[in-house]
Amino acid sequence: MLTAQRILIKNGCVLTLDKSVGNFHQADVLIEGTKISAVGLNVSAADAEVIDASDMIVMPGFIDTHRHVWEGILRNIGTDIPLEGDASYLTIVLNTLAPAYRPEDAYIGDLVGLYGAIDAGITTILDWSHIQATREHADAVIKALQESGMRAVFAYGYPWWKEPEENQNDWIREIAKQYFSTKDQLLTFALAPQGPEFTSFETTKAHWQLARELDARITVHVGVGTAGKSAKLRDMGKAGLLKDDTTYIHCTTLSDEEIKMIVDTGGRVSLASANEMNMGYGMPPIQRFLNHGLRPSFSVDTETNMPNDMFTQMRSVNSLQHAMIFDRKLEGKRNLPPFMNSRDVIECATIEGARATGLANKTGTLTPGKEADLIMLRTDRPNILPVNDPIGAVVWGMDTSNVDSVFVAGNALKRNGKLLDVDLDHLREMAYKSRDYVIAKSGFVLPEI
Ligand SMILES: [Zn+2]
Repeated sequence: MLTAQRILIKNGCVLTLDKSVGNFHQADVLIEGTKISAVGLNVSAADAEVIDASDMIVMPGFIDTHRHVWEGILRNIGTDIPLEGDASYLTIVLNTLAPAYRPEDAYIGDLVGLYGAIDAGITTILDWSHIQATREHADAVIKALQESGMRAVFAYGYPWWKEPEENQNDWIREIAKQYFSTKDQLLTFALAPQGPEFTSFETTKAHWQLARELDARITVHVGVGTAGKSAKLRDMGKAGLLKDDTTYIHCTTLSDEEIKMIVDTGGRVSLASANEMNMGYGMPPIQRFLNHGLRPSFSVDTETNMPNDMFTQMRSVNSLQHAMIFDRKLEGKRNLPPFMNSRDVIECATIEGARATGLANKTGTLTPGKEADLIMLRTDRPNILPVNDPIGAVVWGMDTSNVDSVFVAGNALKRNGKLLDVDLDHLREMAYKSRDYVIAKSGFVLPEI
């Protein structure tokens, strides 16, 4: 792993996405140790390793605020199944395939998912890990998160296919103490309870209390398809349980009152809009939050049916928001809300992600003093040249083939278009072996072609 003391990235088009620093058609970024120490024109650093970025856009790494990373070995297994119903994501992925996972399957599922995320320019990920059948499953997943080199939130999730173990909350306390005694590290901790729509009010309340006892953020699915119409989040709000330490995922079928409760209590939001539209979660509530002045973060959610990059997320939200407003315009409606532009969505995929994971003081913009989590995107490829509008190019023109380099806390995880220190042959062998085991054990039959 490249761990130079000082790295000077020279002559890139630098999108800091921090208004107080500005964006530059040409500037330098200096990394010292784990942090960004300077951004600007003609930065000099005599003893630094110099990287020429003259054909690159340099920007903060993308932040994925909700992904069930253990599903990495189940990629594209459920592209044609809905969320709910007899043959659905809930019955097949969560109730049939998940119970077959051993700790080593969770490990390799996570590892392929994480390497895929780095390859796609994601530097921070919230691993919504509801594969926690045993204490060892947590150790296995945390090992993968540590090995990946990413900045990550390990969000401990209770298994969905069975009741929690009697001592599950003791495991959680143990894990928090063993791995997360400090927040000053790449991995931080959150609790991922099933939430009020999938378990009782009392159980949810106890989970909320446990998270607060451990000083952990809460990340929870709400407004999920049919279950989201039950007004259960309203009950939580009425009981005074909603606070600014929580990120709410989907929110697709919540009532207006519940959306307002989230905003009023300082909550954050994670939209997985491509997934939400494709699988029947309900209409992604992008405009409903924008109306209240809250910009959401974005998430991949499930690799069982979605690609692993944030380009897809940015484009799907931007298109959807425009479609909804243009539709109203075509109906003759007036006083319509403003359109999201490319700058809005690129910020949702970066700094809003940092806010939704409690990491805005560390990452999300290229601000001197923050951790050096940044990516370099190639602008000399035939899919993107000539670059006329750098932000528009990232949001609408680029894809993962443009991701040249990825740095997390100053460490290079990808350079010159290649992941560093990853034995892809070994990874492939482990992924297929584990996939074969899980499929055989679960009794699931892979789709015909
Ligand atoms: Zn999810």
